[in-house]
Amino acid sequence: MTEEHVILSNDAESAHPDERANRHGQPATTHELFNVRAPSDALAILLAQLPASVAVEAIPTRDALDRVLAEDVSSPGDLPTFRRSTMDGFAVRAADTFGATEGLPAYLELVDEVFMGQAPKVALGRGECVRIATGGMLPSGADAIVMVEQTQAVGPRTIEALRPVAPGENVVQVGEDVRAGDPIISRGTSLRPQDLGGLLALGLTVVPVARRLRVAIVSGGDELVDPEAVPGPGQIRDINSYTLAALVRRGGHEPCLEGVFPDDYAPLQAAAAQALAQCDVVILSAGSSVSARDMTAQVVDSLGRPGVLVHGVSLKPGKPTILAVCDGKAVFGLPGNPVSCMVTYELFVAPTLAHLSGAVVPPRRTVSARLARNIASAAGREDYIQVRLEPRQDGGHGFDAVPVFGKSNLIFTLVHSAGMLKIPLDAGGLNAGADVEVVLF
Ligand code: AMP
Ligand code: MG
Repeated sequence: MTEEHVILSNDAESAHPDERANRHGQPATTHELFNVRAPSDALAILLAQLPASVAVEAIPTRDALDRVLAEDVSSPGDLPTFRRSTMDGFAVRAADTFGATEGLPAYLELVDEVFMGQAPKVALGRGECVRIATGGMLPSGADAIVMVEQTQAVGPRTIEALRPVAPGENVVQVGEDVRAGDPIISRGTSLRPQDLGGLLALGLTVVPVARRLRVAIVSGGDELVDPEAVPGPGQIRDINSYTLAALVRRGGHEPCLEGVFPDDYAPLQAAAAQALAQCDVVILSAGSSVSARDMTAQVVDSLGRPGVLVHGVSLKPGKPTILAVCDGKAVFGLPGNPVSCMVTYELFVAPTLAHLSGAVVPPRRTVSARLARNIASAAGREDYIQVRLEPRQDGGHGFDAVPVFGKSNLIFTLVHSAGMLKIPLDAGGLNAGADVEVVLF
């Protein structure tokens, strides 16, 4: 199968709706997706209707991984609070070591040892030194550390320094890590492991964060069964409920799995209405196109005003995407094809959740690579191509991005991919050898 064929091939998403029949065997009477928007315009239309009004809660810092900091935080104190050694060695007065060489070392009297977690018992006099370990507290009078490797013991109470040290050498000064009053982490940051460490180092054991969004996931499709079930003929296991839930959780929010519903208006509408009442955001998976058995647009419009804002995006995969606001809440109708579903989640749902929680979106993790094959694309459409990363075939540094082609509806094209590359709206494709940025999953 050639790339050309795969990329340009029709799939369920692009099939003309009239070619589909509804569940009663009647031909579909609905229309095309007429008003297709560019992906970035579509998102802007949605976000313009969604003012971020972030609900804030205070939670233990140790539980705050991936949560969005709701206020700027500044340091309540200096860190470190005492001068610390960065080496195992001897605390000295630097001036006592000036001019020391292996041939003519500086002799220092070993007067004590600093124990970890304790204040030094002595102050350092001229010509004296104190044994100290990494992280130990410098005694007063000392201003530098001579590494143990640069000394030699010449008696129980005498050492030779074989090299000079400058004042401040191998010492972290009070406040050198952070000073009292310094801004340390700004609001909108999704807290990372090191951020939790920094906050806790300062004794900030409770942090203000945006409340987690409750994101309802309603899956529609007559063909779907739970993963535990053995699918009968024509049935498939529900994938999207679980990939979407995992994406929501990874974004620091709370998925609410509402279950699987048939392609019938009444049960889907009831499930969506209940989800909207109980959650902050609703995602409906599948049924987002325009055939008679695609109920999502109709259901979404029933949920509240203004209803559907965007139906159809110039995107592949993911054209039949619905973006809506119902009674002040974001509602999404994502295409059921698992690849489209994930792509449209990343493009529309993830930034909306970030917007709603006041998150400053960190740059996506990308890898530069060399495209291994030609890829065709229709101009006027944004394409996302799944790729594997392999060591470069030409022996060069870095990676080849090898497109993982497949017809739509294949979950394992995603499983075998490291990430996706974007072919912009106005580009007619990319040639093998092109430098590309792969957005990692
Ligand atoms: P639809 O968006 O309803 O036209 O569905 C497009 C394709 O995605 C169809 O082949 C469906 O069977 C499939 N699909 C829909 N929902 C799911 C789901 N939850 N898990 C896996 N595949 C699905
Ligand atoms: Mg369907």
